[in-house]
Amino acid sequence: NDDLVSFVKDVFTVFEEIALEKEIKFLFLSSEKQIDAWFDNDKVEKILYNLLSNAFKFTPKGKSIKVSLEKENIKNKVHAVIKVIDYGIGIPEEELNSVFERFYQTRNKNISAQEGSGLGLAYINHLVKIHRGEINIKSELHKGTTCTVTLPISKAAYLKNSIIELQPQKY
Ligand code: ATP
Ligand code: MG
Repeated sequence: NDDLVSFVKDVFTVFEEIALEKEIKFLFLSSEKQIDAWFDNDKVEKILYNLLSNAFKFTPKGKSIKVSLEKENIKNKVHAVIKVIDYGIGIPEEELNSVFERFYQTRNKNISAQEGSGLGLAYINHLVKIHRGEINIKSELHKGTTCTVTLPISKAAYLKNSIIELQPQKY
């Protein structure tokens, strides 16, 4: 187990340089000073990394991106709620249901020459599921996108996760 606040903060710090370069206002907010949590470091890092990569890819210069972290009790179990909020180009409503599909990329022709393969969100979705968590994306075209990841962080939940992970996963 680890302090999730400093863990998320560390990943945030990696992107601070890109924020400076792209002139994006970049904020980190946490409801707690410390969140003692059981989680899979490697998976949470990949989830955050992919979400932040998307946020930076689809947010133009001068706009802002926020990372927020909260602790919440859901059905009597402790959860971490991590949000990556961007004020970027947004996702058209008719595409929101497709973004978790592998190789899916927007049909919006205005977004020229975007590097990437459309695998990021499909992969995150898979990692979040292994972690017994949930991911939710809300977006408004030309306004921005909020990706919310909810993960159980109690020891009991974590030990259950490790058992699940031994089973083959469909991906
Ligand atoms: P990869 O992650 O493999 O490098 P990608 O970023 O294009 O490629 P995903 O991360 O799976 O692929 O995202 C799928 C699509 O969803 C993106 O191509 C983009 O059209 C849309 N999308 C994802 N995140 C955002 C965001 N924060 N703002 C606007 N559109 C987004
Ligand atoms: Mg991506």
